[in-house]
Amino acid sequence: MHLVRAAAIIFLFSLTGFGVAWYLHRAGYPLPTPTERLFPPAPPKPLGILIHHSATPFRLKGRMVDAKKIDDMHRQRGFSIVCDGKVYHIGYHYVILPDGRIQPGRPENCPGAHSGSSFYNQRFLGICLVGDFDSHGRWNGRRSPRQPTQAQIESLVKLCTRLMHEYDMPLRNVRRHRDVGQTYCPGDGFPFGRVRALIAQELERRLQNASVTHIPAR
Ligand SMILES: [Zn+2]
Repeated sequence: MHLVRAAAIIFLFSLTGFGVAWYLHRAGYPLPTPTERLFPPAPPKPLGILIHHSATPFRLKGRMVDAKKIDDMHRQRGFSIVCDGKVYHIGYHYVILPDGRIQPGRPENCPGAHSGSSFYNQRFLGICLVGDFDSHGRWNGRRSPRQPTQAQIESLVKLCTRLMHEYDMPLRNVRRHRDVGQTYCPGDGFPFGRVRALIAQELERRLQNASVTHIPAR
């Protein structure tokens, strides 16, 4: 009889172990305690932005490369998480199309899957420009220009400025993927110096507008 009970307990433990492991695998982060489930802690504020390229042409197999297509690609690569009760496959927080349209990926409060480092995945927002801007890349100059379009640059500057303002991010925390990992991403054709200068200009413009607005009336 004791043997049967012991076997049942071991069986239950192994089931629970499996359940926990499965949950952790799906969710990508540790199980919340009952208190955390009732009062979930605010997610940490993002510290900065990592810029990527998709390393693809604008179209693949007749389909436009956009947030939906990248979502499919990242599902196959196992980047999926459950965040706020929804499943997200796409690892980036935003995608910028060649015509400058900005598409959402994961919500800003969900950890990303866009760098090899858990620190940058957790604390930096990932923005991906569609295209292959790396001279070592397979598609660079073939069905894909060597540099981002003007519309992509303008949208990137606008999006970065908005996020920096919202989360109080310094310009030094706007980085390329290659600045923090073993990769060429977003490629040597990505004009980082120009993008930083444009962001600085836009921040300056916003600051001046704000100070003009706040001059006290006599
Ligand atoms: Zn990247």
